[in-house]
Amino acid sequence: MASTVRPKTRSTIHEFDLIRTLHQRHSRRTPSVIQGIGDDAAVITSRAGQWTVLTTDLLTEGVHFDLRTATMPDIGFRAAVANLSDIAAMGATPQYLLVALAIPRTGTSLHVHQLYRGMMAACRPHHVRLIGGDTSASNGGWFLSLTVIGMVPPRKALFRSGARIGDYVYVTGTIGDSLAGLRLLNEPQPGEHRHPRTARFSTRHRQFLIGRHLRPTARVEEGRWLSAHRFATSAIDISDGLSGDLRHICEESHVGVELDLGALPLSPACRAYVAARRLDPVGLALTGGEDYELLFTVSPRQCPRLEQAAIKRGFSLTCIGRIHPFRFGIQALSPQGKRHRLANTSYEHFT
Ligand code: ADP
Ligand code: MG
Repeated sequence: MASTVRPKTRSTIHEFDLIRTLHQRHSRRTPSVIQGIGDDAAVITSRAGQWTVLTTDLLTEGVHFDLRTATMPDIGFRAAVANLSDIAAMGATPQYLLVALAIPRTGTSLHVHQLYRGMMAACRPHHVRLIGGDTSASNGGWFLSLTVIGMVPPRKALFRSGARIGDYVYVTGTIGDSLAGLRLLNEPQPGEHRHPRTARFSTRHRQFLIGRHLRPTARVEEGRWLSAHRFATSAIDISDGLSGDLRHICEESHVGVELDLGALPLSPACRAYVAARRLDPVGLALTGGEDYELLFTVSPRQCPRLEQAAIKRGFSLTCIGRIHPFRFGIQALSPQGKRHRLANTSYEHFT
């Protein structure tokens, strides 16, 4: 939308030059894109009957990212992963990307190109094409909104509402790494105000956890595989923390769950981190958001096939609980065999 009040971008960023450069660097010809960047809107074709899956995310400087701890490529990468992960959690294949950007006074075209470098690095392995966007100036910080469009064969989409009593609950990969990485980034640096136990924590583990925070993996292959083989009855990606995201499945499916806390998959680095900082590993795994792992449910008769097929594909999956009737609520079984109700501890923006 054109602004009549003042130029949309500051004089040091030339909007049309910027868009032309983004177009040259990042858009690739592909038969399904009839019109990409360069017209009033993008035009794509899709195979007849396929379901279209759409997601959008808005990231705000100071709320979702902090330029003191993340670089522009990292911010772009994470923003793309958040959207790719939403498409993955639907069992769909991500295909197209649109990017809306508001650039603060301090922003330069170098910043923008770095941001796109990160976004496209996350998209490239999945062949996701940049097909458009919008650009504006911002009187505040950076605003970044991504829209990803994906496709899934009809009736193969995975919803939060599909969990059934008796289903087992699984998660991909390991959880808690991203929160541990974020906390490490926010700790005082050596030389500043050294953390009393920093020295006991290995650089390798530290780098792994920070990498999991800044460069998470969207489980696109896993999501598509879960839907294509009809392994999953429901799915969600872990963006707000295991306990909150599991709650979403329970609410949408109108079921309860028993979560086996002793089974939660923690990486060796995460275990080393909680030991070094004397933290509760379960608390970290339950509340840590932004791992972008998939949380899904599987009917008992599918579990053996799922587990065998996962080994063949090299996918890491862990069974962490079982679906119960709604009245059971959300309960956790401790490694010592004690049961308790799980508190609602997910991340909320407005609290
Ligand atoms: P309009 O005034 O119709 O919104 P623009 O000049 O904003 O047109 O956009 C021209 C073309 O550039 C469009 O194809 C649009 O999708 C694309 N575009 C604009 N900003 C971006 C951006 N930040 N990233 C990618 N494509 C963009
Ligand atoms: Mg525009």
